[in-house]
Amino acid sequence: MTLVEDFQRSADQHSALNAFTYLATDSLTQETETALSGPLSGMLVGVKDNIAVRDMPLTCASEILRDYISPYDATAVSHLKESGALIVGKTNLDEFAMGSSSEFSIFGPVRNPVNPDYVAGGSSGGSTAAVAAGLVDVALGTDTGGSVRQPASYCGIVGLKPTYGRVSRYGLVAFASSLDQIGILSRNVTDAARMLTVIAGADPSDATSVDHPVPSYAAKLETDPENLCVGVPQEYFAEGIQPEVKAHVDRIVDELRSMGVKVKTVSIPHTPSAIAIYYIISSAEASSNLARYDGVRYGSRQPNEDLQKMYTDTREHGFGPEVKRRIMLGTYVLSAGYYEAYYGKAQKVRRLLKQNFDRVFQEVDALITPTAPTTAFRQGEKLDDPLAMYLNDIYTASVNLAGLPAMSIPAGVDRKDLPIGCQLIAPPFEEETILQLGTIIERLEW
Ligand code: GLN
Repeated sequence: MTLVEDFQRSADQHSALNAFTYLATDSLTQETETALSGPLSGMLVGVKDNIAVRDMPLTCASEILRDYISPYDATAVSHLKESGALIVGKTNLDEFAMGSSSEFSIFGPVRNPVNPDYVAGGSSGGSTAAVAAGLVDVALGTDTGGSVRQPASYCGIVGLKPTYGRVSRYGLVAFASSLDQIGILSRNVTDAARMLTVIAGADPSDATSVDHPVPSYAAKLETDPENLCVGVPQEYFAEGIQPEVKAHVDRIVDELRSMGVKVKTVSIPHTPSAIAIYYIISSAEASSNLARYDGVRYGSRQPNEDLQKMYTDTREHGFGPEVKRRIMLGTYVLSAGYYEAYYGKAQKVRRLLKQNFDRVFQEVDALITPTAPTTAFRQGEKLDDPLAMYLNDIYTASVNLAGLPAMSIPAGVDRKDLPIGCQLIAPPFEEETILQLGTIIERLEW
């Protein structure tokens, strides 16, 4: 059986997960398979459906883009293709990547492969479920406030969000441009390292991508633990954390210490403001980025002879409830009279938060925290409570606000057998340190 046939069979078997929005199997032939060569040759890859793959739908799980087919490849996708990877389909997500559960999708919710009564996390839930269920080897996700790391934590796999600017955003549908970054979902650290080497690097089509050398990450995974010093930020273990999550991260810290890693307690004092700043800045940027879907420039039009009515009908019909909430919130914080009080202030606190991290990284090589305060929640549990949904991002959003690289790595399971994730955070462009620490942690027995 060919790779593609094998994939098709397992995708059919696991269709209840709702991980894919589109399967490319019809267009992949035995010839495409045998022609593959390169460092990722024969690897099956899923791509989140807010990243462009030529001749495949690019829906963002939104009504407004339901019929859109991308005429081009995102830069990260072209790199994957050149490296011999086989893109087998597009994966399900929260509409426009806004959410933490992958339930806000026109295709219906993604289910957690560990237990389908629970959410897969979000917004890269489809990519994560596809990797966790073994349907694909690796997948691309996107992370604006935690959307690669939090689902990885909920489904028990590795989720890497690179430094802002490490991977080109060309071909990624913009949500919040100062925070968005393409990331990687994989079953182990080595695959994440191999994939990062392929997709990282400067790109003339993305002015925010950075020209910084790209090492062969997979060749540098081993290091002497005695060379490492990690910080444990006390604010990340405050009230609201599930006791088992804390216990498992504490155990990792103890194990690292016993191997010779130096451990320090540190402080990121502006952590309690992170959720507020994140939702102000990300919604402000979203309201501006999503203005283009007006039925004229982009998006399926709801025809009406009255131009104003055409705009309102198009957007009323085209966007789901969470996207509308963000657009309204973002428009409000940017409006005259409120701009300074909300958006301006959030920008200032964002800078302070970044300075908190800069200071701590003068003392330690990496930080170790939980990825999310709890394990996965039940389907539907938080759908009517946006604030409870937003609080999921409490440990991940700061990382995007500061532009840092971070990774979620599996850390055992709780008493319901739901996976726990441990987050590693490093200074800009120090993905290598995260991958090295991840390699050590990956070997622990639970
Ligand atoms: N859960 C966060 C949000 O809803 C993060 C989303 C993301 O990283 N794309 O905005």
